[in-house]
Amino acid sequence: MRHTTEKIVERKNLVVNPVKTCQPIGAMYAALGIHRCMPHSHGSQGCCAYHRSMLTRHYKEPVMATTSSFTEGASVFGGMGNLMDAIANIFSLYDPDVIAVHTTCLSETIGDDIPQIVKKAKDNGLIPRGKHVFHANTPSYVGTHITGYASMVKAMVDYFAVPSRKRSDQINLVPGFVDPPDMEELRRISSSFGVAVVMFPDTSGVLNTGLTGAFKMFPRGGTRVSELVTAGEAIATLGLGRFAAGPAARALDAKCGVPCEVLDLPLGLAATDRFVMALSRHTGVPVPEDIAEERARVVDLVADMHQYLYGKRVAVAGDPDHLFPLVEFLLDLEMDVRHIVTGMQSKKIERRMEELFREKAPDKRPNFAAPGDLFLLHQWIKNDPVDLIIGNTHTKYIARDENIPSVRVGFPILDRVGHQYFPIVGYRGAVRLLEMILNAFLERVDATVPEESFELVM
Ligand code: SF4
Repeated sequence: MRHTTEKIVERKNLVVNPVKTCQPIGAMYAALGIHRCMPHSHGSQGCCAYHRSMLTRHYKEPVMATTSSFTEGASVFGGMGNLMDAIANIFSLYDPDVIAVHTTCLSETIGDDIPQIVKKAKDNGLIPRGKHVFHANTPSYVGTHITGYASMVKAMVDYFAVPSRKRSDQINLVPGFVDPPDMEELRRISSSFGVAVVMFPDTSGVLNTGLTGAFKMFPRGGTRVSELVTAGEAIATLGLGRFAAGPAARALDAKCGVPCEVLDLPLGLAATDRFVMALSRHTGVPVPEDIAEERARVVDLVADMHQYLYGKRVAVAGDPDHLFPLVEFLLDLEMDVRHIVTGMQSKKIERRMEELFREKAPDKRPNFAAPGDLFLLHQWIKNDPVDLIIGNTHTKYIARDENIPSVRVGFPILDRVGHQYFPIVGYRGAVRLLEMILNAFLERVDATVPEESFELVM
């Protein structure tokens, strides 16, 4: 990072420090959100080891997954034999209810036909009665971990949801790529409207468990297969995150006729308002008083501390579903968002971002790149400095080199705690985001003000 140059030259075929990682990481994470599910990586051991370690480092929990363990033979002749052996071994050794297979670059390049292999495994009696094997294609030479997550969640619909004439008093929630406490919070908010909620995937109770002294291969959490089946009879589906959740919500609508609404992730005030109002509209229930009170707390905190937020220049890096509501929140706080990058190619988010700035900050024109990388973000910051960086752990190198405070939001976060325990979605999450941003500024003030301005009360 210290060698980053100020001069920006056009780069077409070189990415330096990407704001993304590979598809199977997202697919593996989504699969862990099904109860008693073993994610299976169809490829070499190295891919699986990398994906597991990335998730383990972010969630600080052991992540279980199996691999087809390709060697030269599978690379040349295809991975059918390896996957058939794997399915038999996994059911006999670990006894999961579900195996969720995702492909890797290698098995995609070979062209393994996973549905055909799974059918053969079924015909050969390798899949015990009442157990399931399903799959998603996740070639990592295209897309990002968000594409992989979206494909695996859509596969849950394709394999399990059953169309029904019956309409139950149930809302489906499809969360984007968020952490387990966020999923817990989304369920809590939705349940406060008094309806049944089926959420898939749901990694709460899987990747945020306590230390009890007893190892459990399959923790208590996760969406049940029976719930995935009944998703087809809900009154509505809310997809939270256009890129990560949108494909599954729309697939459920197409397959089962469950009307869907695809919203932004409820990060910050305005996006949470839209989520809460959508819940109220679809359930026919007025917004509960407790939820309104939570909103009032966010407004109160903003009113109290606005002086520390107003006009502060910010750079933001992250996944596309996080970016829009996060930037919207920062603009609502009257902060000055200067630079925005995401690793995913997206004209859509570029257009939405332009509209957002036209509406909320018409005199500002931020730098925006989709796809962009952290090298470009660093160059922009060198040319137009900021007071704060918001992004994943990798942004810390820019923060250190430029001596700027940073706040960790997104994936992966390898060097801080909190994201495993506290949500950033909903109104409670908005308070946490504000707390992280404000504390970053206030600590900087304490560390840098002259002695005569050093205050006890801020
Ligand atoms: S080979 Fe492909 S799937 Fe495996 S770790 Fe690399 S990018 Fe990911």
